[in-house]
Amino acid sequence: MGRSSKDKRDIYYRLAKEEGWRARSAFKLLHLDEEFNLFNDGVKRVVDLCAAPGSWSQVLTRKLRRPTDNGKSDAKIVAVDLQAMAPLPGVIQIQGDITKVSTAESIISHFEGEPADLVVCDGAPDVTGLHDIDEYIQAQLLLAALNITTHVLKNGGTFVAKIFRGKDVSLLYAQLRLFFDKVTCAKPRSSRNSSIEAFVVCEGYDPPEDYIPNMSNPLLDMDYDLYSNQLEGPNRVIAPFLACGDLSGYDSDKTYPLQLEGGKEYKYLPPTQGPINPPYKHACELKSASQLAKEDGLGHVVAASSSQIST
Ligand code: SAM
Repeated sequence: MGRSSKDKRDIYYRLAKEEGWRARSAFKLLHLDEEFNLFNDGVKRVVDLCAAPGSWSQVLTRKLRRPTDNGKSDAKIVAVDLQAMAPLPGVIQIQGDITKVSTAESIISHFEGEPADLVVCDGAPDVTGLHDIDEYIQAQLLLAALNITTHVLKNGGTFVAKIFRGKDVSLLYAQLRLFFDKVTCAKPRSSRNSSIEAFVVCEGYDPPEDYIPNMSNPLLDMDYDLYSNQLEGPNRVIAPFLACGDLSGYDSDKTYPLQLEGGKEYKYLPPTQGPINPPYKHACELKSASQLAKEDGLGHVVAASSSQIST
């Protein structure tokens, strides 16, 4: 597979490089904004949870950092990730874990006592391929993001987060509805149809009376067997589903030719800015030195030297 084959298979990956975005995920936030007008004039303080390598932070800076009379921008953007992220002008970065109260405190300190208008979270665990486990971990990450949000978001504010539409998703909708007036499940055009990924757009933050934000939220201790499929009557929340992004836009599941306007020759572009120290770095180094074990097509894992090491 040549370097340009991913460019052919994935139009948004290619466009991201052409337009200078650090990841194709930028288009997901842009498509969500088309539908929900997330970056209206009142939005000045934003938190980007699970932000690396930083394409959502790039969207936030391009949309929100409008210069004021004194030449400075009035928007403040705080980005958080477990991984280090290359600097971005106008973005305050915190390298931290969104499941920790210290991360919430650090965000608050940057807003000097003012609450955030918008919290976005594109958090994803390293996917194992075991669907139940992946969905469970994703749900935990979403609830951790919700916990952080309850510490920092203003009443009436908006929370946007990645969600996996697995079998227990209605429990998550119900939990989110405890805190927000309106919860919509949205699928941006740039998110592949074949993926169970979608985004919850939660509008009108309105926590239960006397709710005290905390990180040991009992919602995190979900007993799926007990509760998930037994929600009935008013407890069963069905979030409206919305496909967003302009229909004239590209289809993320289609393969596009590398033909350019005017018959110009296609030129491969390297990614704008990858993660600077990702957990898979060592595997990439082994791969480029042809030292990574592979599957032989019969389900056997073979070492780079071709000797079978496991089945
Ligand atoms: N929105 C990003 C962008 O546009 O560049 C892409 C985010 S990437 C899909 C998911 C990120 O979630 C990873 O960078 C990962 O390090 C981060 N993440 C996963 N668990 C986390 C946690 N507990 N705390 C902070 N970040 C976490």
